Amino acid sequence: MKRGVLTVLSGFSGSGKGTIIKNLLSVYPDRYALSVSATTRQKRLNEKTGVFETDGVDYFFLTKEEFEKRIAEDRFIEYATYNENYYGTPKDYVFECLDKGLDVILEIEVQGALQIKEKFPDALLIFLTPPDAETLYKRLTGRQTETEEVVRRRMKTAIFESTLMNRYDYVLVNDTIDECTEKLHQMVTLAHDRAVCSTGLIDEIKQQLNTFSFD
Ligand code: 5GP
Repeated sequence: MKRGVLTVLSGFSGSGKGTIIKNLLSVYPDRYALSVSATTRQKRLNEKTGVFETDGVDYFFLTKEEFEKRIAEDRFIEYATYNENYYGTPKDYVFECLDKGLDVILEIEVQGALQIKEKFPDALLIFLTPPDAETLYKRLTGRQTETEEVVRRRMKTAIFESTLMNRYDYVLVNDTIDECTEKLHQMVTLAHDRAVCSTGLIDEIKQQLNTFSFD
């Protein structure tokens, strides 16, 4: 059985990462696993449902001390600071799923994504973006819950993130949810056949070829 592809999905706040990932998992439930990150930020209230985020589902919510202890114990594949909070990807679950042949999705920001590429050159990095900056701004201001200050900060972060987009393998435009989800699925599917993910097959074919004699 082939190992799964470690897939990183980053994107501007307002690019629709959460929606696309949710859709991907519901259309292909047996193909993908979503890594649950750890964070030191506070649980957020979902304005629509009136329910707070759940520990172990949305994130593993840790204290700063506990997070730093886990850093020292080398329990994260990567971690980064974002808006003055730690965020990190726990190792165990990711490797277990990849070994089972599942494609694992990490929804992480750009610093973490670049750490992943450095440590795992065969990881697939995809950057999700709305079709243009005006659409991004409209999506952010359209969320009634965000203050002007939050929108301003998110647009500033987007300016920084845009300088790193060219370090990703693919840029994925989120125009319509279904088309974008399907394109993401195709990108991951094709990634399985990259030479870097086919070292087993390459070795096998080399060995087989060596059994022929042409003297
Ligand atoms: P939020 O607080 O809005 O849930 O997430 C803030 C940012 O942190 C998002 O860009 C999200 O993709 C990123 N993030 C979530 N989990 C991780 C993680 O494990 N590692 C890194 N580096 N970033 C993460």
